[in-house]
Amino acid sequence: MFDIGSGGSVIAVYLFVLGACLGSFANVVIYRLPLGKSVVRPGSACGSCHQPIRFYNNIPIFSWFFLRGRCGRCKAKYSIRYAMVELLTAGLFLAAWYRFGASWTLIEALIFIFSLVIVSFIDLDHMILPDKFTLSGILIGLLGGALNPERDFLDSLYGVLLGGGFLWAIAYFYFLIRKREGMGGGDIKLLAWIGAVLGWQSVPFVILVASVFGSLVGVVTILVKVRRAPTSESSFEVSESGSEVPPLAIPFGPFLASAALVYLLADGASWAQWYLELHGL
Ligand SMILES: [Zn+2]
Repeated sequence: MFDIGSGGSVIAVYLFVLGACLGSFANVVIYRLPLGKSVVRPGSACGSCHQPIRFYNNIPIFSWFFLRGRCGRCKAKYSIRYAMVELLTAGLFLAAWYRFGASWTLIEALIFIFSLVIVSFIDLDHMILPDKFTLSGILIGLLGGALNPERDFLDSLYGVLLGGGFLWAIAYFYFLIRKREGMGGGDIKLLAWIGAVLGWQSVPFVILVASVFGSLVGVVTILVKVRRAPTSESSFEVSESGSEVPPLAIPFGPFLASAALVYLLADGASWAQWYLELHGL
C-alpha cells in the first residue's frame, strides 16, 4: 500500500467525478452501440419528448436524484439504472485508486473497468459481447503486458491462451456431446481479454467465482419465476402464444466481468497465488 495524503484525497475525488462522467458516457454507448448508432452525435435527448437534455439536467448521478428520475421537460420516467451505472463506474474508479495509487497499473485498471461496465450491460440487454470491445481488449491487454513495467508480458500472453483456450475447450466438448452451441464465442473472447489484463494466474479464480455468482443468481431467478408463475396466469401477463414459459437466458459475461473486478480490486492475485502454491504450482 502507498501513503494516501491530502493530495491523495483530491485525486480520489477527481477520479470519482471522472468515473461518474465516463459512466454517463457508458450509458450512451450501452444504448447506442448495439443499435449501430453514433456514440458521439447527437447529444443526449429525452427518449419520450425527443428534446435535448439541458446540460444542468445531465449531471451524472446527481441529476437523476434531483429530478427524481424524470425528464426535466416532459416528466417522463427514466430508469434508475442510468444513475446506478454512473455510481458503479465512479465507485470502481475510486476503489482502483485506493488499490493501486499513482501507477501504470491504475491507468490500465481504469480502462479495464470502464470497458467491462459497458460490455456487461450490453450483454445483459442483448446477450452479445461486441468484438469491438473483446478483441481490442485482448490487444490492449497484451500491449499493457508488454509496456507496463509492473506487469509481465508472458503472464499476459499465457492469460490469453489459458482464458481463451479453457472456455473454448468446454464449448467444443459441449458441442460434441450436445450437438449444439452452449457457451457463446463472446464469453471465450471476454475471458481471453481478462487473462490478457490480469495474467494467466487469474483465470481459474475468475472462472470459479463467476460460476458461483452465476449459480446464485440463476437459483434466485428460478425461485422468483416459480413464485410468480401462478399469479401471472391470472393477470395480464399471459401471452397470446400460450402459456409456455420462455427458457431462462442469463448471459455469463456480467459474471465473468464481476469476478475479474473482484480479482483486480480485492487482491485476488494473492488468493490465486495461495491456491496455486497449495497445489504445488
Ligand atoms: Zn422528455
